[in-house]
Amino acid sequence: MWIDITMPLHKNMPVWPGDAPFDYRLAAELEPDGANVGEVMMSLHTGTHVDAPYHYDDFGKSIDALPLDLFMGAVLLVEMTSVEQIQKEHVEMLPLQGIERIFFKTKKEHDLYRFAPSYTTVHPETVTFLAAQGIKVLGTDAPSVDAVEDVALQAHHACNEEGVYIIENLYLKDVEAGLYEFIGLPLAIQGGDASPIRAIIRKVE
Ligand SMILES: [Zn+2]
Repeated sequence: MWIDITMPLHKNMPVWPGDAPFDYRLAAELEPDGANVGEVMMSLHTGTHVDAPYHYDDFGKSIDALPLDLFMGAVLLVEMTSVEQIQKEHVEMLPLQGIERIFFKTKKEHDLYRFAPSYTTVHPETVTFLAAQGIKVLGTDAPSVDAVEDVALQAHHACNEEGVYIIENLYLKDVEAGLYEFIGLPLAIQGGDASPIRAIIRKVE
């Protein structure tokens, strides 16, 4: 059974402080235009999304250039609901052999209406360690791997240096730790710094 781990997109959803709020409206309507035609306005970092390296590096790959096979395949989902920052010591004992993707469930509850600034971050050393184990995609249910006030974006830059791609704002409230199959493809936005994805997982028996 596939499980949807995507944040729903709606007008009152939380967005990063200062980012454009999500908006959906009908630019044309069935009456009198003949069809409902919607348009959206959003920051590409709204809801469940992939960051392209171009987000934090002018010379980094844009979203349409990321290898798609990284966004399909086995993922280890681990619970980190009792730490404020994910340190190397928290991941050292994980069974990462042959695993290229790791998702961190850091929240017990998700606020689908309000941005919550105190979320669990990832220490840059953790990124370096995970990359050395073969991890290429790091996902979190937090809005960022760095703290909201941290403009140095150390964990983002560690990911860039190590070739690890970041998924943010996963919706993991209803799923438990374990090994899953994952699909979550970014849109081919040419030159884009990020893209929303529809993320789904299925338990590996
Ligand atoms: Zn982002």
